[in-house]
Amino acid sequence: MHYIDGTWRGAAGAATRASINPFDQSVLDTVAEGDRADAQEAVAAARRAFDTGPWRQTTASARGRLVTALGQLVAEHADELARIETLDTGKPLRDSEQDMADIAGVFRYYGELADKDAGREIPAPAAGITSRVLREPVGVCGLICPWNYPLLQLSWKLAPALAAGNTVVAKPSELTPLSTLRLFELMTALDLPPGVANLVLGPGPQVGAELARSPGVDLVSFTGGIETGRQIMRAAAGNVKKIALELGGKNPNIIFADAALDTALDYALTAAFLHSGQVCSAGARLLVEEGRYDEVVAWLAAAVPAIRLGSGLDPEAETGPLVSAEHRAKVEAYIRLGVEEGARLVCGGRRPDDPALAGGFFVEPTLFADCDASLRIVREEIFGPVLTVERFASEDQAVALANGTDYGLAGAVWTGDAGRAQRVAGALRAGTVWINDYHPYVPHAEWGGYKQSGLGRELGVAGFEEYTETKHVYENGAPRPQRVFAGRR
Ligand code: NAD
Repeated sequence: MHYIDGTWRGAAGAATRASINPFDQSVLDTVAEGDRADAQEAVAAARRAFDTGPWRQTTASARGRLVTALGQLVAEHADELARIETLDTGKPLRDSEQDMADIAGVFRYYGELADKDAGREIPAPAAGITSRVLREPVGVCGLICPWNYPLLQLSWKLAPALAAGNTVVAKPSELTPLSTLRLFELMTALDLPPGVANLVLGPGPQVGAELARSPGVDLVSFTGGIETGRQIMRAAAGNVKKIALELGGKNPNIIFADAALDTALDYALTAAFLHSGQVCSAGARLLVEEGRYDEVVAWLAAAVPAIRLGSGLDPEAETGPLVSAEHRAKVEAYIRLGVEEGARLVCGGRRPDDPALAGGFFVEPTLFADCDASLRIVREEIFGPVLTVERFASEDQAVALANGTDYGLAGAVWTGDAGRAQRVAGALRAGTVWINDYHPYVPHAEWGGYKQSGLGRELGVAGFEEYTETKHVYENGAPRPQRVFAGRR
């Protein structure tokens, strides 16, 4: 069902779609499959709610309380939501549980931030003048989300959008709509005015494209693939709407010879294979300094095949399947390409033999060694369980290799040399750099990409400001005749 203007309804065309468990292809639920008409209805509802509804009169503090309450709802229903997320995406339950804790934290953060920006008063340029800069909501926001972290990515958009006073139309990925559906069911307890938060399900080229195109939408915040991001930019040009894009990554994880190697390698496995590599910030490119290169490849050659695949509900499973048959085919095509390009396939690359996994969209964790920047598997985002290893001889070369793709989302440096850590962090062209760590993020620090990894920032104060316009109000307390056009008096 869609949630539009405060009511649940089926798709205008009465179409439905089965949501599939990627572990065994069982049908988890059958949901509405919307199209452009549904998106248009939701945009119209959001437009009315923004332009003429009571929402605009809500104080920032009241909106903050609402967003905080939404976070509490997530925390109270964390077990249920985590289970839904695991069934729909295939990721291990402990990862989904971590997502829910993070989501509650994101709502809490923006709930608290909602009334902290009081605008600012600028020193009067002349007697009798007041000059204030106010922050106002942008208007109707389309929130288009991917399938790898369905509810987490939505929270990064929904929390600041509502806290800032916008109305929204959310569109989850058609592959993983179930946790978003449940969140909207829970949200009805909050008595938001009708039309403030709308949900439309359906395929990207229909529902998502309509949100990107619609003249009734003032801002589109999109997380997903780079090619879709380009299409959204083009569609958004029609009414010059604001856009925020969180696109992919091909993130370098750099290990210098002086690093604490056991720890670095332990983290490198998680960096590359968490959620089967379906993570925008995955450390999919390992760069290793010459002196430790052979040791690292030998360690990985033993560790990567030992990664336990399984159902997300199996506590023994370390990672799950890919999200769909189509996505698995894309990952497998990249693995074939790597072999054709001449990279050394050390392990993995096939579907697992275990009959218990035969119904799922699994690919074995895969390791390619002796890679270099000429290979497409090194430069392009695969978004699967595929790790490439390159060697470098100097700090300068490590930085050049690390920066040598079109992406710039994240990266990590492992070294015992504090000065080098800071130098390399400074030189990396990426929105997030970890030093002797990988993957953590915090709601109060901005997240986003350099280069083609995106436009704008989520999280942090900037992630709130994305959903606002500034307005300069200049008041002349005692206007005097100007007498510029004296003859017209
Ligand atoms: P995708 O681009 O295929 O789809 C993302 C969303 O866009 C889905 O809801 C989809 O229905 C919609 N969509 C598809 N075509 C559209 C169109 N023409 N117009 C408007 N909307 C459209 O991406 P995906 O496969 O769901 O997610 C994987 C990608 O997301 C990866 O590239 C990954 O790196 C990226 N990602 C980035 C971040 C980040 O923070 N930078 C986080 C998560 C995922």
